[in-house]
Amino acid sequence: MIGIIGGGIIGVATAYELAKLGEEVVVFEKRYFGSGSTFRCASGIRAQFTDEANIKLMKYSIERWKTLSEELGHNIMFQQTGYLFLATTEEEVEAFKKNIKLQNKFGVPTRLITPEEAKEIVPPLNADAFLAGAWNPEDGKASPFHTLYAYKKAGERLGVKFYEYTKVVGIEKDGSKWKIKTTRGEFKVDIIINATNAWAREINKMIGKDIIPVTPYKHQLVKTEPIERGQIEPLVCPPAWNDSYVIQDGEDGGVICGTALEYESSPDDVTPTYEFVKEVLKWAVKIIPALKHVHVVRQWAGHYAKTPDKNPAIGMIEENFYVAVGFSGHGFMMAPAVAQALAEKIVEGKTKVPLDWEWFDPWRFERGELRASAFQIG
Ligand SMILES: Cc1cc2nc3c(=O)[nH]c(=O)nc-3n(C[C@H](O)[C@H](O)[C@H](O)COP(=O)(O)OP(=O)(O)OC[C@H]3O[C@@H](n4cnc5c(N)ncnc54)[C@H](O)[C@@H]3O)c2cc1C
Repeated sequence: MIGIIGGGIIGVATAYELAKLGEEVVVFEKRYFGSGSTFRCASGIRAQFTDEANIKLMKYSIERWKTLSEELGHNIMFQQTGYLFLATTEEEVEAFKKNIKLQNKFGVPTRLITPEEAKEIVPPLNADAFLAGAWNPEDGKASPFHTLYAYKKAGERLGVKFYEYTKVVGIEKDGSKWKIKTTRGEFKVDIIINATNAWAREINKMIGKDIIPVTPYKHQLVKTEPIERGQIEPLVCPPAWNDSYVIQDGEDGGVICGTALEYESSPDDVTPTYEFVKEVLKWAVKIIPALKHVHVVRQWAGHYAKTPDKNPAIGMIEENFYVAVGFSGHGFMMAPAVAQALAEKIVEGKTKVPLDWEWFDPWRFERGELRASAFQIG
């Protein structure tokens, strides 16, 4: 029996992948499934990273995203509507060219486009403000709600037990097994996976292995009323404008707007701030001037669970105790690949997924190593 702590997209998708390989799995979630970062994310999926490990992982993940609705038997609303990064200076154009070269090397078809081409893709764009764009039409978006639901239902069909409002409060060794103490009683399992992301340290401390410095930062989004489809379908981001971005929600067409204003905070604190509304809208109307005529209807907060190099920690930290935590702003998009890789590694000892275990090694911080910082947005 494998016990997974944390019912976000990583925990739930990994439970499904393990069950597919014939394992008995139980998942503990202290609130409702998706209530952590997962249901608070911006839905974006991209292979436009700036290092080999993340580009390869995301290229594979996008292949999985393409067939996930069919595999899971539920429409997760995956759409390849692209990501459009926009440069405001010559230095940025040069940096884009370098990134594009690296992405192309691993089969990601990103290309440099002119402001005129960018305006054809995003008609209301303030194209005059930009010198060029980095455009990958194969990036995209999916519904975090439908995706988590689809994985959970598919897991249930394979026998996974999902316990919500069940907090893990302690872990003990019990012979060759682990005893997990929860608010719903005790469970004995052979293997534990810590998938609590921003809460990772609390769980790792329970086994005396506080080796992954995950720090939670509150990040927020606002969303407008629905606008006509087809106007801002890609995620549009000028990194020099405080990593601000806009993207039309794949389900109802409202515009989700984010920016890099963040606060170090407890992951249980999801109170939004007015300061964020002012900051994010300042940038959003610079990117898409017509947004000044559109009403904001929602605001919410969640957390980026950041390691010092903004790459997640994935692997074993104690015999039969694994982690997949610290996903910063890119855990939703990585979930299909990471879940498959972890499940195959645990059950079969190796995986088909091009996941670089050394790069994501949870012990790297103890050794004083940092990877190149993973490119994060917002
Ligand atoms: C504003 C914002 C925008 C984002 N945009 C994107 C995006 O566009 N694309 C993308 O890929 N990513 C994005 N992200 C990041 C993404 O949301 C996360 O990386 C991803 O959801 C992490 O999933 P997870 O399963 O690891 O963690 P979570 O979804 O946080 O799940 C962890 C779960 O563990 C549970 N838990 C904690 N402690 C315990 C305990 N003791 N017992 C039982 N359960 C426990 C929590 O309740 C929580 O539900 C965004 C995040 C935010 C905040």
